[in-house]
Amino acid sequence: MQYISTRDSSRRYSAAQAIVQGLSRDGGLFLPETIPALTAEDLQSMVGMTYQQRAVKVMKAYLDEFTEEELAEYAAKAYAVPGKFDDAAVTPIHSTHHKTHFLELWHGPTCAFKDMALQMLPYLLTASLRKTGEEKTACILVATSGDTGKAALEGFRDVDGTRIMVFYPKDGVSEIQQLQMVTQEGSNVDVCAVVGNFDDAQTGVKTIFSDEALRAELAGRGYFLSSANSINWGRVLPQIVYYVATYAELVKRGDIQMGDQINFCVPTGNFGNILAGYYAKRMGVPIDKLLCASNANNVLTDFIRTGIYDRNRPFHTTISPSMDILISSNLERLLYLLSGSDAEVRGYMEQLNKTGRYEVSKDMLEKIQDNFLCGFCDDERTTNAIGKVFSHGKYLMDTHTAVAYTVMMDHRAATGDATPTVVVSTASPFKFCDSVLTALGVQDQRGGVEILDQLAEVSGKAAPAPLAGLKGKARRFAQVVEKQQMADVVREALV
Ligand SMILES: *Cc1c(COP(=O)(O)O)cnc(C)c1O
Repeated sequence: MQYISTRDSSRRYSAAQAIVQGLSRDGGLFLPETIPALTAEDLQSMVGMTYQQRAVKVMKAYLDEFTEEELAEYAAKAYAVPGKFDDAAVTPIHSTHHKTHFLELWHGPTCAFKDMALQMLPYLLTASLRKTGEEKTACILVATSGDTGKAALEGFRDVDGTRIMVFYPKDGVSEIQQLQMVTQEGSNVDVCAVVGNFDDAQTGVKTIFSDEALRAELAGRGYFLSSANSINWGRVLPQIVYYVATYAELVKRGDIQMGDQINFCVPTGNFGNILAGYYAKRMGVPIDKLLCASNANNVLTDFIRTGIYDRNRPFHTTISPSMDILISSNLERLLYLLSGSDAEVRGYMEQLNKTGRYEVSKDMLEKIQDNFLCGFCDDERTTNAIGKVFSHGKYLMDTHTAVAYTVMMDHRAATGDATPTVVVSTASPFKFCDSVLTALGVQDQRGGVEILDQLAEVSGKAAPAPLAGLKGKARRFAQVVEKQQMADVVREALV
């Protein structure tokens, strides 16, 4: 299967090339030229499979140049239980009602859903480097709103032929998230705080990628830049797996019959997770609606309602920081999938660049609304939802999951929709102890990592081992820079 760019569909790339490059030189995102179909028999055959086997089946359909043996090896290592994930199902489903299911994507080494892709990406990337004959060291640059950075560091630490540098917004991540990053171990890792918000960090990384002079300079030193942000196709692909796998699992458990429609409700930031759900739907998984849930940064809610994407609005720092995003990069792939026109996508992206705003065609808006529903939820309602769901069924949600849950409940109340719905649970509540404790009515909170014990005591749940293990770890990284200095940080690190 060949890959193309959303901004120029005339050139073809192999999957390995797309994964190695990350972002196309024309500024567009890579995507497969066609979407492979899963027949009803394919889906049925997956009912009896493990998560790892389902991963091979889905990924193989997109990766001709990889053998099944290769992919099986990567899946076994990336989703090893125990070792990497702490639940035999890899992505366990917790049901609070026969039509309400929480898909827990946070049982990996960093306790957020980013592990689903970032445990797999290093295998895909290093194999792709071999397949394309690249001999330079890949320097992975990551801008993070908190979870990606740690997951990428953990995925790439000490992987031969790679360096990894993570930039996070200085005041935009939780204390636990920051601690997870600045204590990162490994000989090929760098972590740096940026003054500003996530968009500043992401814009800084994009600027570095488009700096041809810097690229040439680094090439002379034996490095090339690559991305582990969700703009890399190697990030999106492993995420398609859990949408397909969840359907097979719900059939296996008897919650649904093969062929029944289900909805997914996804807490959304960069639009990477929910885009993977849309791919699963296009492959043939019986998904009716994808609910796009936002926090107070509700640029996507407005977009799905009106067709107008407008990032000219105040940026809110919320208690669901991984969704504090005003430019949802992966939306560009959806625009291409729905229009099939690189010229149309180029036009929208040029407007976004110049004015921070674009309006899609009526035809495009209809197609979006056929597939996606949307809603948003502010911090107050997020907090209330965590308290309520815990007091009713002792189920403990993190802040991001609580945004999605609230949006799903709003949708049900407004429409009476009785379709079984999977709320995609993207982080362990222990990653956001302070907000979760506040939601449980605990005002007097302990500092530092002691707060993990406090949430464990109050909730009666154990903190995941990777977080409990933060106690006593040395802080290795303290650098803070302005966004204009990010290129210099890269220059200085790669000598
Ligand atoms: C990254 C992240 C999100 C948003 O996912 P996108 O793919 O960026 O839409 C939601 N919740 C958590 C906990 C995350 O880490």
